Amino acid sequence: MILLDGKAVSAKMKERVKNEAVKLKNSGVEPALAVILVGEDKASQTYVASKEKACHACDIKSIMHRLPEQTTQSELLALIDLLNLDDSIDGILVQLPLPKHINTDKILESISPNKDVDGFHAINVGKLSSGLDGFVPCTPLGIMEILKEYDIDVSGKNACVIGRSNIVGKPMANLLLNASATVTVTHSKTKNLKEICKNSDILVAAIGKPFFVTEDMVKDGAIVIDVGINRLDDGRLVGDVDFDSVAPKCSYITPVPGGVGPMTIAMLLSNTIKSAKNRVKKA
Ligand code: NAP
Repeated sequence: MILLDGKAVSAKMKERVKNEAVKLKNSGVEPALAVILVGEDKASQTYVASKEKACHACDIKSIMHRLPEQTTQSELLALIDLLNLDDSIDGILVQLPLPKHINTDKILESISPNKDVDGFHAINVGKLSSGLDGFVPCTPLGIMEILKEYDIDVSGKNACVIGRSNIVGKPMANLLLNASATVTVTHSKTKNLKEICKNSDILVAAIGKPFFVTEDMVKDGAIVIDVGINRLDDGRLVGDVDFDSVAPKCSYITPVPGGVGPMTIAMLLSNTIKSAKNRVKKA
């Protein structure tokens, strides 16, 4: 069994991003990411702080907009409009979840698809599903990067994605399909989940339930990707896969922490560089 070291792959990606950022800066374009946080959600504050830190470490300018909980939808839309029009901004990220009085879909659709570095805008979702170049959500894109780094060819393999969220499950399925895997997307209403998993060469777990994937669900020699991040009562961080029992059966497996998690921010930075390069092309 080989451990897929997302921490190492993300460090390599960040190094690449930093080199690109310096090159862009030297040619007069400073890559810039605007991050909007509305409200006081503790986890969101932590995520946003990590994104800011990663930008600094990679020579990407980060412009933080911390807005109060009572910010109205129109105020948020007005800010996004300004950022859409600002030629010095390459990426716009609205940290989710938003307060309940704000319509998340409306906000995500208001971001220019050209600056949508999270890849959540319907235009980018459509591009991904059509196999066209656009922005791809960072977590599944990071998983593809790990597979690439370890020379794992998914073409012709049976892949099962557990979870159908817009952030992970669906884009993951599209990426695997675009790379010629035979993909089954499963969810809470799937009837024969165990058999589908057992028949899969690649198993991606994006459920949000600790230890959900057990040894009896996994094919011998499978490649197992654990997207889950679950905090147990004792403070431990675990994935959706029962790592101790599953790992011995796998050819490759991602650990939690240190697997998929570190890739998400690295791909956000990479998407910001991609957008900055598009700015150069347009100039
Ligand atoms: P989500 O929106 O809650 O989606 C969970 C999915 O799991 C849903 O599609 C749900 O099915 C499915 N599911 C729930 N119970 C199931 C069951 N018993 N059998 C089969 N499928 C079941 O979650 P998410 O945003 O995709 O995130 C999933 C996990 O990944 C979470 O632990 C999250 O923290 C983690 N995550 C990690 C990163 C990272 O950077 N590593 C990034 C994003 C998310 P239905 O659609 O039928 O409800």
